[in-house]
Amino acid sequence: MRQTKIILSDKEIPTKWYNIMADMPNKPKPPLHPGTKQPVGPDDLKPIFPMDLILQEVSQERWIDIPEEVLDIYTLWRPSPLFRAHRLEKALGTPAKIYYKYEGVSPAGSHKPNTAIPQAFYNKKAGIKRISTETGAGQWGSSMALAGKLFGLDVTVYMVKVSFGQKPYRRMMMETWGATVHASPSTVTNAGRKFLELDPNSTGSLGIAISEAVEDAATHDDTNYALGSVLNHVCLHQTVIGQEAKKQLEIAGDYPDVVIACCGGGSNFAGIAFPFLHDKLSGKKKDLRAIAVEPTSCPTLTKGEFCYDFGDVAGMTPLMTMYTLGHDFMPSGIHAGGLRYHGDSPLVSQLYHDKIIEARAYGQTKCFEAAVLFAGTESIIPAPESSHALRAAIDEALRAKEEGKQKTILFNLSGHGYLDLQAYADYREGKLFDHEHPEEDIRKALENLPKI
Ligand SMILES: *Cc1c(COP(=O)(O)O)cnc(C)c1O
Repeated sequence: MRQTKIILSDKEIPTKWYNIMADMPNKPKPPLHPGTKQPVGPDDLKPIFPMDLILQEVSQERWIDIPEEVLDIYTLWRPSPLFRAHRLEKALGTPAKIYYKYEGVSPAGSHKPNTAIPQAFYNKKAGIKRISTETGAGQWGSSMALAGKLFGLDVTVYMVKVSFGQKPYRRMMMETWGATVHASPSTVTNAGRKFLELDPNSTGSLGIAISEAVEDAATHDDTNYALGSVLNHVCLHQTVIGQEAKKQLEIAGDYPDVVIACCGGGSNFAGIAFPFLHDKLSGKKKDLRAIAVEPTSCPTLTKGEFCYDFGDVAGMTPLMTMYTLGHDFMPSGIHAGGLRYHGDSPLVSQLYHDKIIEARAYGQTKCFEAAVLFAGTESIIPAPESSHALRAAIDEALRAKEEGKQKTILFNLSGHGYLDLQAYADYREGKLFDHEHPEEDIRKALENLPKI
């Protein structure tokens, strides 16, 4: 019998996170205070983050221990399976081997609980009672709701208004795990009220929801803020994905030529790619390629500018060096809600700037076409976000076929799409269109970049 899935035992869950900062030739520049524009110190971040996470954010240690309490919860779904996509390979007629790591097995259906769990743990340890956070499509909000429940923390979620209406099941999931969910912009915060005044019909954006959640945390002593992507500690927590995949490929007797993941804020890309990039940066696997895939409607890496920008619309977060489309960028309503963020992880941005990784962008119809092929061969219905990685993996496999070359491709299937079926219906009914974000709009948004 041919081997299709490679499963590790509970004991093989990685016990340390891998911190790529220790191995990067150029580290990201320090974050700056939004008011003074001076480098932020730990004390500036203390009102919204616990000290353990602040220290991880700036740590230069290569390996960081995963607490027992976190490992204990990870065993609920980790190690996640690695699959060889035999049926997809056959359908493509490619000589390439395609592997995918499946993060949809988590209770929330994506990779996001990998960081929600440790974030809840460190906040609980610091005596915090409540977490405020934002969510776009609802994947992060549901992961944080779950993590809060498991550690006895209240969770308040500001959910981008358009998703609040479009994704009732995600909201119900959060509420089942005990979270309170507000449609953002909301009337609960000053930031929300201000945005509503400017535009009473605002459908919201991730940047606005972040402003609301940060304000909530900053104005309540017992409340901290949590972010589901972008930050260094979030990328760090996700590296369990790539470490497991390395072990699993070793069992299969393989090593990837190319590692692929979709890129919203960069965390699932970091999660699968960083442990492999460790080998590239140490000179052991110089030719390894890693590709971050984004939508053409939110082309942060491929069309953005590399500079200091805010993480939110109101300009309350520290300034970070990253590829950005401008903090007041308003993305079109494509279905891959988790990929609609104006910025990107400073770590991923720096690696792209230094040409250590690659990036490419696809329109959503080509991604849904790939997703439907995948559903019909490998059976899992991918999250619309993950279908961007899948599209790139398929294109790499087709190129191998054209060139008549053997190649090993690994991609991260960051989540399942069982709560995104409306998107699949819209695709089948021909209601989905590709949206290329106009250069003119990008230029305009970039004019409002903070002057450093
Ligand atoms: C949130 C999300 C993403 C995008 O976030 P990253 O931080 O870039 O990983 C990708 N896939 C799924 C399924 C998501 O929920």
